[in-house]
Amino acid sequence: MLASRITSGRPWPIWFLLVFAALFLFGPKVTGDSLGLIEDTGTPTDSLKLDDSRLVVSSETDVVDPSGESASLYPMSPERKARLVSYARFKNIWRFVGFVISIGVLWLILVTGLAARMRDWARVAGRRFFVIWLFLGMFAVADYILSLPFNIYRGFVVESNYGFMNQTFLEWWGQGLLGLLITVVIGIIPIWFFYWLVRKFRRWWLVFSIGAIPFAVVIIVIVPVFVAPLFNKFEPLRDKQLETELLALASRAGIEGADVFQVDASRQSSKINAYVTGLFGSKRIVLYDTLIDNFTVEEIKFVMAHEMGHYTMHHIWWGLAVAIVFISFALWLVAMTIHPLINRFRERFRFDRLSDIASLPLVLIFLSVIMFLFQPATNAVSRLMERQADTYGMDMSGVSGETGAVVFDKLSVFNLSDPDPHPVIEFWFYSHPSLKKRMEFVRGYRPAR
Ligand SMILES: [Zn+2]
Repeated sequence: MLASRITSGRPWPIWFLLVFAALFLFGPKVTGDSLGLIEDTGTPTDSLKLDDSRLVVSSETDVVDPSGESASLYPMSPERKARLVSYARFKNIWRFVGFVISIGVLWLILVTGLAARMRDWARVAGRRFFVIWLFLGMFAVADYILSLPFNIYRGFVVESNYGFMNQTFLEWWGQGLLGLLITVVIGIIPIWFFYWLVRKFRRWWLVFSIGAIPFAVVIIVIVPVFVAPLFNKFEPLRDKQLETELLALASRAGIEGADVFQVDASRQSSKINAYVTGLFGSKRIVLYDTLIDNFTVEEIKFVMAHEMGHYTMHHIWWGLAVAIVFISFALWLVAMTIHPLINRFRERFRFDRLSDIASLPLVLIFLSVIMFLFQPATNAVSRLMERQADTYGMDMSGVSGETGAVVFDKLSVFNLSDPDPHPVIEFWFYSHPSLKKRMEFVRGYRPAR
Protein backbone atom coordinates (compact mmCIF):
# COMPACT_ATOMS: atom_id res chain seq x y z
CA MET A 1 0.00 0.00 0.00
CA LEU A 2 0.83 3.38 -0.43
CA ALA A 3 2.15 5.18 2.42
CA SER A 4 2.12 8.74 2.08
CA ARG A 5 3.02 11.22 4.48
CA ILE A 6 2.99 14.65 5.08
CA THR A 7 5.61 16.17 7.11
CA SER A 8 6.80 13.56 9.20
CA GLY A 9 5.97 10.25 8.10
CA ARG A 10 4.36 7.58 9.98
CA PRO A 11 3.19 4.25 9.16
CA TRP A 12 -0.23 3.61 7.99
CA PRO A 13 -2.58 0.84 7.70
CA ILE A 14 -3.19 -0.34 4.32
CA TRP A 15 -6.27 1.28 3.55
CA PHE A 16 -5.62 4.45 5.21
CA LEU A 17 -2.70 4.59 2.93
CA LEU A 18 -5.23 4.41 0.26
CA VAL A 19 -7.06 7.41 1.42
CA PHE A 20 -3.74 9.01 1.30
CA ALA A 21 -3.07 7.67 -2.10
CA ALA A 22 -6.15 9.52 -3.07
CA LEU A 23 -5.06 12.63 -1.29
CA PHE A 24 -1.82 12.19 -3.08
CA LEU A 25 -3.96 12.40 -6.14
CA PHE A 26 -5.04 15.78 -5.08
CA GLY A 27 -1.58 16.87 -5.28
CA PRO A 28 0.70 18.56 -2.99
CA LYS A 29 2.33 17.34 0.07
CA VAL A 30 3.18 13.88 -0.59
CA THR A 31 5.62 14.37 2.08
CA GLY A 32 5.13 15.70 5.41
CA ASP A 33 2.52 15.17 7.90
CA SER A 34 0.57 18.24 7.79
CA LEU A 35 -2.74 16.53 7.60
CA GLY A 36 -2.00 14.59 10.68
CA LEU A 37 -4.04 11.80 9.30
CA ILE A 38 -2.08 9.01 10.78
CA GLU A 39 -0.55 8.12 13.85
CA ASP A 40 2.86 9.23 14.05
CA THR A 41 5.64 9.69 11.77
CA GLY A 42 9.02 8.89 10.56
CA THR A 43 10.66 10.55 7.68
CA PRO A 44 8.94 12.43 4.93
CA THR A 45 9.68 9.77 2.44
CA ASP A 46 7.55 7.37 4.29
CA SER A 47 4.97 8.68 2.11
CA LEU A 48 6.34 6.94 -0.82
CA LYS A 49 7.04 3.73 0.80
CA LEU A 50 4.57 1.12 0.71
CA ASP A 51 3.94 0.00 3.94
CA ASP A 52 1.08 -2.01 4.14
CA SER A 53 -0.37 -2.94 7.22
CA ARG A 54 1.86 -1.95 9.81
CA LEU A 55 1.74 -4.22 12.57
CA VAL A 56 2.20 -1.40 14.84
CA VAL A 57 0.98 1.84 15.78
CA SER A 58 4.25 3.34 15.12
CA SER A 59 6.81 1.39 13.45
CA GLU A 60 10.20 2.51 14.13
CA THR A 61 12.69 0.51 15.92
CA ASP A 62 15.12 2.05 18.08
CA VAL A 63 18.44 2.89 16.77
CA VAL A 64 19.77 4.13 19.93
CA ASP A 65 22.08 1.27 19.79
CA PRO A 66 23.92 1.50 16.51
CA SER A 67 25.88 -1.64 17.18
CA GLY A 68 22.80 -3.60 16.30
CA GLU A 69 22.45 -5.10 19.70
CA SER A 70 18.97 -3.78 19.92
CA ALA A 71 17.99 -6.95 21.66
CA SER A 72 19.38 -5.30 24.72
CA LEU A 73 16.51 -2.86 24.46
CA TYR A 74 14.15 -5.57 25.40
CA PRO A 75 12.68 -5.75 27.95
CA MET A 76 12.19 -2.09 28.60
CA SER A 77 14.25 -0.15 31.11
CA PRO A 78 12.68 2.58 33.28
CA GLU A 79 14.59 5.23 31.29
CA ARG A 80 13.17 3.88 28.10
CA LYS A 81 9.71 3.82 29.58
CA ALA A 82 10.10 7.51 30.43
CA ARG A 83 11.13 8.26 26.86
CA LEU A 84 8.20 6.29 25.55
CA VAL A 85 5.80 8.35 27.62
CA SER A 86 7.39 11.60 26.53
CA TYR A 87 7.41 10.59 22.86
CA ALA A 88 3.77 9.50 23.03
CA ARG A 89 2.83 12.81 24.61
CA PHE A 90 4.72 14.74 21.96
CA LYS A 91 3.01 12.81 19.16
CA ASN A 92 -0.41 13.46 20.61
CA ILE A 93 0.24 17.18 20.73
CA TRP A 94 1.70 17.14 17.25
CA ARG A 95 -1.38 15.50 15.78
CA PHE A 96 -3.06 18.86 16.34
CA VAL A 97 -0.10 21.19 15.97
CA GLY A 98 0.96 19.60 12.68
CA PHE A 99 -2.58 19.79 11.39
CA VAL A 100 -2.90 23.46 12.28
CA ILE A 101 0.48 24.25 10.72
CA SER A 102 -0.41 22.61 7.45
CA ILE A 103 -3.68 24.50 7.27
CA GLY A 104 -1.90 27.70 8.26
CA VAL A 105 0.63 27.37 5.45
CA LEU A 106 -2.09 26.81 2.87
CA TRP A 107 -4.09 29.72 4.24
CA LEU A 108 -1.05 31.95 4.07
CA ILE A 109 -0.47 31.09 0.42
CA LEU A 110 -4.09 31.92 -0.19
CA VAL A 111 -4.69 35.17 1.70
CA THR A 112 -1.43 36.84 0.75
CA GLY A 113 -2.55 36.56 -2.85
CA LEU A 114 0.45 34.36 -3.57
CA ALA A 115 -1.78 31.70 -5.11
CA ALA A 116 -3.31 34.26 -7.47
CA ARG A 117 0.10 35.63 -8.33
CA MET A 118 1.44 32.18 -9.13
CA ARG A 119 -1.57 31.59 -11.36
CA ASP A 120 -0.75 34.79 -13.23
CA TRP A 121 2.88 33.77 -13.60
CA ALA A 122 1.89 30.29 -14.74
CA ARG A 123 0.02 31.74 -17.69
CA VAL A 124 3.28 32.01 -19.60
CA ALA A 125 3.00 28.26 -20.09
CA GLY A 126 0.30 28.81 -22.70
CA ARG A 127 -1.97 25.80 -22.87
CA ARG A 128 -4.20 25.22 -19.88
CA PHE A 129 -2.74 21.85 -19.03
CA PHE A 130 0.77 23.32 -18.78
CA VAL A 131 -0.49 26.35 -16.89
CA ILE A 132 -1.94 24.02 -14.27
CA TRP A 133 1.28 22.03 -14.16
CA LEU A 134 3.47 25.09 -13.76
CA PHE A 135 1.14 26.39 -11.07
CA LEU A 136 1.33 23.06 -9.28
CA GLY A 137 5.14 23.17 -9.40
CA MET A 138 5.30 26.66 -7.93
CA PHE A 139 2.64 25.93 -5.35
CA ALA A 140 4.32 22.70 -4.23
CA VAL A 141 7.65 24.49 -3.86
CA ALA A 142 6.09 27.38 -1.91
CA ASP A 143 4.31 24.95 0.39
CA TYR A 144 7.48 22.94 0.79
CA ILE A 145 9.58 25.98 1.71
CA LEU A 146 7.05 27.41 4.15
CA SER A 147 6.61 24.04 5.83
CA LEU A 148 10.29 23.22 5.86
CA PRO A 149 11.19 24.52 9.33
CA PHE A 150 8.37 22.51 10.85
CA ASN A 151 9.23 19.46 8.78
CA ILE A 152 12.84 19.65 9.84
CA TYR A 153 11.81 19.94 13.45
CA ARG A 154 9.30 17.10 13.36
CA GLY A 155 10.86 14.84 10.77
CA PHE A 156 14.52 15.20 11.63
CA VAL A 157 15.19 16.92 14.96
CA VAL A 158 12.59 15.12 17.02
CA GLU A 159 13.22 11.78 15.37
CA SER A 160 16.94 12.18 16.01
CA ASN A 161 16.38 13.16 19.63
CA TYR A 162 14.45 9.98 20.22
CA GLY A 163 17.09 7.98 18.42
CA PHE A 164 15.14 6.92 15.37
CA MET A 165 17.05 8.70 12.65
CA ASN A 166 19.53 6.66 10.67
CA GLN A 167 20.21 9.27 8.00
CA THR A 168 22.38 12.32 7.90
CA PHE A 169 20.57 15.60 7.51
CA LEU A 170 21.52 15.82 3.83
CA GLU A 171 20.29 12.33 3.09
CA TRP A 172 17.04 13.07 4.85
CA TRP A 173 16.66 16.34 3.01
CA GLY A 174 17.52 14.80 -0.35
CA GLN A 175 14.79 12.24 0.10
CA GLY A 176 12.34 14.98 0.92
CA LEU A 177 13.28 16.75 -2.32
CA LEU A 178 12.85 13.57 -4.29
CA GLY A 179 9.40 13.22 -2.75
CA LEU A 180 8.59 16.79 -3.76
CA LEU A 181 9.68 16.10 -7.32
CA ILE A 182 7.53 12.99 -7.53
CA THR A 183 4.57 14.93 -6.17
CA VAL A 184 4.86 17.52 -8.88
CA VAL A 185 5.36 14.95 -11.63
CA ILE A 186 2.52 12.64 -10.61
CA GLY A 187 0.27 15.19 -8.93
CA ILE A 188 -0.57 16.85 -12.21
CA ILE A 189 -2.82 13.94 -13.18
CA PRO A 190 -5.43 14.26 -10.43
CA ILE A 191 -5.14 18.04 -10.21
CA TRP A 192 -5.69 18.54 -13.90
CA PHE A 193 -8.49 15.97 -13.84
CA PHE A 194 -10.13 17.73 -10.90
CA TYR A 195 -10.16 21.16 -12.53
CA TRP A 196 -11.27 19.76 -15.84
CA LEU A 197 -14.24 18.07 -14.18
CA VAL A 198 -15.14 21.16 -12.16
CA ARG A 199 -15.52 23.02 -15.46
CA LYS A 200 -17.41 20.23 -17.19
CA PHE A 201 -19.77 18.66 -14.68
CA ARG A 202 -22.15 19.88 -12.06
CA ARG A 203 -21.60 16.62 -10.15
CA TRP A 204 -17.83 16.75 -10.56
CA TRP A 205 -17.37 15.28 -7.06
CA LEU A 206 -19.04 12.06 -8.13
CA VAL A 207 -17.24 11.79 -11.45
CA PHE A 208 -13.92 12.51 -9.76
CA SER A 209 -14.41 9.80 -7.16
CA ILE A 210 -15.25 7.21 -9.77
CA GLY A 211 -12.46 8.41 -12.03
CA ALA A 212 -9.98 8.14 -9.16
CA ILE A 213 -10.50 4.38 -8.95
CA PRO A 214 -8.30 3.36 -11.90
CA PHE A 215 -5.69 5.87 -10.83
CA ALA A 216 -5.61 4.50 -7.28
CA VAL A 217 -5.40 0.95 -8.63
CA VAL A 218 -2.41 1.88 -10.74
CA ILE A 219 -0.69 3.46 -7.76
CA ILE A 220 -1.38 0.47 -5.56
CA VAL A 221 0.04 -1.84 -8.18
CA ILE A 222 2.97 0.28 -9.30
CA VAL A 223 4.38 1.79 -6.16
CA PRO A 224 5.65 -1.41 -4.53
CA VAL A 225 7.38 -2.56 -7.67
CA PHE A 226 8.61 0.62 -9.30
CA VAL A 227 8.63 3.46 -6.80
CA ALA A 228 9.77 1.78 -3.60
CA PRO A 229 13.08 0.66 -5.22
CA LEU A 230 13.91 4.31 -5.89
CA PHE A 231 14.35 4.74 -2.17
CA ASN A 232 15.70 1.40 -1.07
CA LYS A 233 17.51 -1.67 -2.22
CA PHE A 234 15.46 -4.85 -2.53
CA GLU A 235 17.27 -8.16 -2.61
CA PRO A 236 16.40 -11.82 -2.14
CA LEU A 237 16.15 -12.77 1.50
CA ARG A 238 19.63 -13.76 2.64
CA ASP A 239 18.52 -16.11 5.37
CA LYS A 240 17.56 -19.15 3.29
CA GLN A 241 16.27 -21.07 6.29
CA LEU A 242 13.86 -18.23 7.04
CA GLU A 243 12.92 -18.05 3.38
CA THR A 244 11.96 -21.71 3.38
CA GLU A 245 9.83 -21.23 6.49
CA LEU A 246 8.09 -18.20 5.03
CA LEU A 247 7.38 -19.91 1.73
CA ALA A 248 5.86 -22.84 3.61
CA LEU A 249 3.74 -20.39 5.56
CA ALA A 250 2.72 -18.64 2.33
CA SER A 251 1.80 -21.96 0.80
CA ARG A 252 -0.47 -22.76 3.74
CA ALA A 253 -2.03 -19.33 3.25
CA GLY A 254 -2.66 -20.19 -0.42
CA ILE A 255 -0.01 -17.81 -1.73
CA GLU A 256 2.02 -19.80 -4.23
CA GLY A 257 5.06 -18.82 -6.23
CA ALA A 258 5.99 -15.75 -4.25
CA ASP A 259 9.43 -14.16 -4.10
CA VAL A 260 10.79 -13.16 -0.74
CA PHE A 261 12.73 -9.91 -0.50
CA GLN A 262 14.52 -8.03 2.18
CA VAL A 263 14.82 -4.29 1.99
CA ASP A 264 17.45 -2.09 3.60
CA ALA A 265 14.97 0.10 5.44
CA SER A 266 17.44 0.63 8.27
CA ARG A 267 19.22 3.03 5.96
CA GLN A 268 16.54 5.58 6.73
CA SER A 269 14.92 4.95 9.97
CA SER A 270 14.95 1.54 11.49
CA LYS A 271 11.24 1.39 11.40
CA ILE A 272 9.94 -2.15 11.45
CA ASN A 273 7.76 -3.19 8.59
CA ALA A 274 6.75 -5.88 6.18
CA TYR A 275 4.14 -6.40 3.51
CA VAL A 276 2.82 -8.82 0.95
CA THR A 277 1.77 -7.59 -2.44
CA GLY A 278 0.98 -8.95 -5.88
CA LEU A 279 1.24 -7.78 -9.44
CA PHE A 280 0.18 -9.75 -12.49
CA GLY A 281 0.62 -13.07 -10.79
CA SER A 282 4.01 -12.20 -9.39
CA LYS A 283 3.81 -12.02 -5.64
CA ARG A 284 6.23 -10.31 -3.33
CA ILE A 285 6.76 -10.94 0.32
CA VAL A 286 8.85 -8.11 1.68
CA LEU A 287 10.58 -7.86 5.04
CA TYR A 288 12.39 -4.82 6.34
CA ASP A 289 15.87 -5.67 7.57
CA THR A 290 14.90 -4.11 10.89
CA LEU A 291 12.34 -6.84 11.39
CA ILE A 292 14.81 -9.58 10.50
CA ASP A 293 17.45 -8.21 12.84
CA ASN A 294 15.31 -7.77 15.91
CA PHE A 295 12.80 -10.60 15.93
CA THR A 296 13.07 -14.36 16.32
CA VAL A 297 11.93 -16.72 13.57
CA GLU A 298 8.70 -17.52 15.44
CA GLU A 299 7.95 -13.86 15.93
CA ILE A 300 8.65 -13.09 12.28
CA LYS A 301 6.31 -15.91 11.28
CA PHE A 302 3.51 -14.30 13.23
CA VAL A 303 4.23 -10.90 11.72
CA MET A 304 4.31 -12.30 8.19
CA ALA A 305 1.18 -14.38 8.73
CA HIS A 306 -0.53 -11.17 9.78
CA GLU A 307 0.63 -9.53 6.52
CA MET A 308 -0.47 -12.55 4.49
CA GLY A 309 -3.85 -12.18 6.19
CA HIS A 310 -4.19 -8.68 4.79
CA TYR A 311 -3.23 -10.01 1.40
CA THR A 312 -5.49 -13.05 1.26
CA MET A 313 -8.45 -11.15 2.71
CA HIS A 314 -7.95 -8.46 0.04
CA HIS A 315 -7.86 -5.73 2.63
CA ILE A 316 -6.27 -3.31 0.26
CA TRP A 317 -9.21 -3.56 -2.11
CA TRP A 318 -11.73 -3.27 0.68
CA GLY A 319 -9.73 -0.32 1.90
CA LEU A 320 -9.89 1.22 -1.53
CA ALA A 321 -13.66 0.75 -1.64
CA VAL A 322 -14.07 2.41 1.74
CA ALA A 323 -11.69 5.18 0.74
CA ILE A 324 -13.64 5.93 -2.41
CA VAL A 325 -16.86 6.19 -0.45
CA PHE A 326 -15.28 8.60 1.99
CA ILE A 327 -13.60 10.60 -0.73
CA SER A 328 -16.79 11.09 -2.67
CA PHE A 329 -18.52 12.16 0.53
CA ALA A 330 -15.67 14.55 1.33
CA LEU A 331 -15.72 16.04 -2.16
CA TRP A 332 -19.49 16.37 -2.02
CA LEU A 333 -19.07 18.33 1.20
CA VAL A 334 -16.49 20.53 -0.50
CA ALA A 335 -18.86 21.14 -3.38
CA MET A 336 -21.62 22.10 -0.96
CA THR A 337 -19.62 24.45 1.22
CA ILE A 338 -16.74 26.03 -0.68
CA HIS A 339 -18.59 28.47 -2.93
CA PRO A 340 -19.89 30.84 -0.23
CA LEU A 341 -16.37 31.16 1.14
CA ILE A 342 -14.91 31.94 -2.26
CA ASN A 343 -17.63 34.53 -2.73
CA ARG A 344 -17.01 36.17 0.56
CA PHE A 345 -13.22 36.46 0.10
CA ARG A 346 -13.04 36.92 -3.67
CA GLU A 347 -11.29 40.28 -3.40
CA ARG A 348 -8.67 39.00 -1.08
CA PHE A 349 -8.11 35.63 -2.79
CA ARG A 350 -8.18 37.27 -6.23
CA PHE A 351 -10.24 34.54 -7.79
CA ASP A 352 -14.00 34.16 -7.87
CA ARG A 353 -14.70 30.60 -8.83
CA LEU A 354 -13.70 27.07 -7.95
CA SER A 355 -12.56 26.32 -11.49
CA ASP A 356 -9.73 28.83 -11.09
CA ILE A 357 -6.52 26.89 -10.41
CA ALA A 358 -5.61 29.46 -7.75
CA SER A 359 -8.31 27.85 -5.58
CA LEU A 360 -6.15 24.75 -5.07
CA PRO A 361 -4.89 25.72 -1.59
CA LEU A 362 -8.48 26.35 -0.49
CA VAL A 363 -9.63 22.99 -1.84
CA LEU A 364 -6.82 21.31 0.09
CA ILE A 365 -7.79 23.12 3.28
CA PHE A 366 -11.36 21.91 2.94
CA LEU A 367 -10.26 18.36 2.23
CA SER A 368 -7.79 18.35 5.11
CA VAL A 369 -10.39 19.49 7.59
CA ILE A 370 -13.01 17.07 6.33
CA MET A 371 -10.63 14.12 6.31
CA PHE A 372 -9.49 15.03 9.80
CA LEU A 373 -13.09 14.86 10.96
CA PHE A 374 -13.57 11.56 9.15
CA GLN A 375 -10.64 9.93 10.85
CA PRO A 376 -12.58 8.17 13.61
CA ALA A 377 -14.70 6.41 11.00
CA THR A 378 -11.89 5.45 8.67
CA ASN A 379 -9.72 4.33 11.56
CA ALA A 380 -12.52 2.18 12.93
CA VAL A 381 -12.61 0.28 9.65
CA SER A 382 -8.84 -0.02 9.69
CA ARG A 383 -8.78 -1.35 13.26
CA LEU A 384 -11.34 -3.95 12.30
CA MET A 385 -9.12 -5.21 9.48
CA GLU A 386 -6.11 -5.25 11.77
CA ARG A 387 -8.01 -7.40 14.22
CA GLN A 388 -8.90 -9.79 11.39
CA ALA A 389 -5.26 -9.95 10.33
CA ASP A 390 -4.18 -10.66 13.90
CA THR A 391 -6.69 -13.51 14.08
CA TYR A 392 -5.45 -14.84 10.76
CA GLY A 393 -1.86 -14.45 11.92
CA MET A 394 -2.51 -16.54 15.02
CA ASP A 395 -4.32 -19.27 13.11
CA MET A 396 -1.86 -19.49 10.27
CA SER A 397 1.44 -19.19 12.11
CA GLY A 398 0.33 -21.44 14.94
CA VAL A 399 2.49 -19.54 17.40
CA SER A 400 1.54 -19.37 21.06
CA GLY A 401 -0.38 -16.43 22.45
CA GLU A 402 2.70 -15.60 24.44
CA THR A 403 4.82 -15.29 21.27
CA GLY A 404 2.21 -13.00 19.74
CA ALA A 405 2.18 -10.89 22.88
CA VAL A 406 5.98 -10.62 22.81
CA VAL A 407 5.79 -9.31 19.24
CA PHE A 408 3.50 -6.49 20.31
CA ASP A 409 5.47 -5.82 23.43
CA LYS A 410 8.66 -5.59 21.40
CA LEU A 411 7.05 -3.27 18.90
CA SER A 412 6.04 -1.00 21.71
CA VAL A 413 9.54 -1.02 23.17
CA PHE A 414 11.43 -0.67 19.92
CA ASN A 415 9.14 1.97 18.51
CA LEU A 416 8.52 3.85 21.69
CA SER A 417 4.88 3.42 20.94
CA ASP A 418 2.39 3.89 23.72
CA PRO A 419 0.75 0.51 24.32
CA ASP A 420 -2.16 1.99 26.20
CA PRO A 421 -3.21 5.39 24.82
CA HIS A 422 -6.11 7.45 26.08
CA PRO A 423 -9.33 5.99 24.64
CA VAL A 424 -10.17 9.20 22.82
CA ILE A 425 -6.75 9.29 21.16
CA GLU A 426 -7.14 5.67 20.13
CA PHE A 427 -10.66 6.24 18.84
CA TRP A 428 -9.72 9.24 16.77
CA PHE A 429 -6.22 8.56 15.53
CA TYR A 430 -5.27 4.94 15.85
CA SER A 431 -5.44 2.86 12.73
CA HIS A 432 -4.51 -0.20 14.78
CA PRO A 433 -5.98 -1.33 18.07
CA SER A 434 -3.76 -0.34 20.97
CA LEU A 435 -0.88 -2.74 21.53
CA LYS A 436 -2.23 -3.53 24.97
CA LYS A 437 -5.53 -4.67 23.48
CA ARG A 438 -3.74 -6.68 20.82
CA MET A 439 -1.61 -8.35 23.45
CA GLU A 440 -4.65 -9.25 25.50
CA PHE A 441 -6.34 -10.54 22.37
CA VAL A 442 -3.56 -12.92 21.31
CA ARG A 443 -2.98 -14.12 24.87
CA GLY A 444 -6.63 -15.10 25.19
CA TYR A 445 -6.91 -16.42 21.64
CA ARG A 446 -7.96 -20.02 21.06
CA PRO A 447 -7.68 -21.28 17.46
CA ALA A 448 -10.96 -22.09 15.78
CA ARG A 449 -10.19 -25.67 14.91
ZN1 LIG B 1 -1.77 -5.04 9.72
